[in-house]
Amino acid sequence: MLARILLVCVLIGFAAAQGVLNENLRWRVNGVRRMAYSFDPNYPQQARQTVLRGIERWNQVLGDCLPLQPRRAGDRDYINVFNGGGCFSMIGRVGGGQALSLSVNGCVYRGTVIHEFLHAAGLIHTQKRPDRDNYITMHWGNIVDSWKSQFTKESSRDIGKYTDYDIYSIMHYTYRHPSWSINNRPGFTSKIPNVDYRRIGTGDDFTQSDVLAIRRMYKCPARKFNAIVNNNNSNNRNGTMDRKPILCSNV
Ligand SMILES: [Zn+2]
Repeated sequence: MLARILLVCVLIGFAAAQGVLNENLRWRVNGVRRMAYSFDPNYPQQARQTVLRGIERWNQVLGDCLPLQPRRAGDRDYINVFNGGGCFSMIGRVGGGQALSLSVNGCVYRGTVIHEFLHAAGLIHTQKRPDRDNYITMHWGNIVDSWKSQFTKESSRDIGKYTDYDIYSIMHYTYRHPSWSINNRPGFTSKIPNVDYRRIGTGDDFTQSDVLAIRRMYKCPARKFNAIVNNNNSNNRNGTMDRKPILCSNV
């Protein structure tokens, strides 16, 4: 059973703002609620700085709940960041060293760093939630076949619904992407009115629901969300798409 979980982020079906219900996949390192990470020795120094900025942000909002800490001697379970073929992570704590790929070609952005570590903590993509059809309409004909699995719903037996559906979650796919949209047409449209499509899948920070999902999954005390600031993005997003959408997929 566990072996099924080892595959890459999107291949998998076990998760929940939407995360894994299987408690064995939750992080504890030597009995303590925390996540440990290391860098592959070949991971470039410059990219590390961006990854570390994402980790710093993580610890600002989740450091009291599920801190991300450098691997210490004796830490059996840890996440090893490497320069793989794309952006991907396993879902939840797999046991031992688990790979998290942040390719220097397209994945070294703060938002992508946060996104992949949220997978490692146990979250799946928002558009795979069992209840997603209440919020988005799929346009399967606009998605290339090899990417369709990224949009299949997961079972509510495996996935906990820790928050309401958040189309702006950092775990939601963008509505179209050159890698998987046919003729740049949208893979889905929102059933929620007045959605800003430019914001979907292009975040570089947690949303409130992203943080809440982890806190609920890991049974951490509630904390006010004032500290979580997305405002610094809004100017950038005003009219122009100056950031790449997160592209996290199976390899
Ligand atoms: Zn992802």
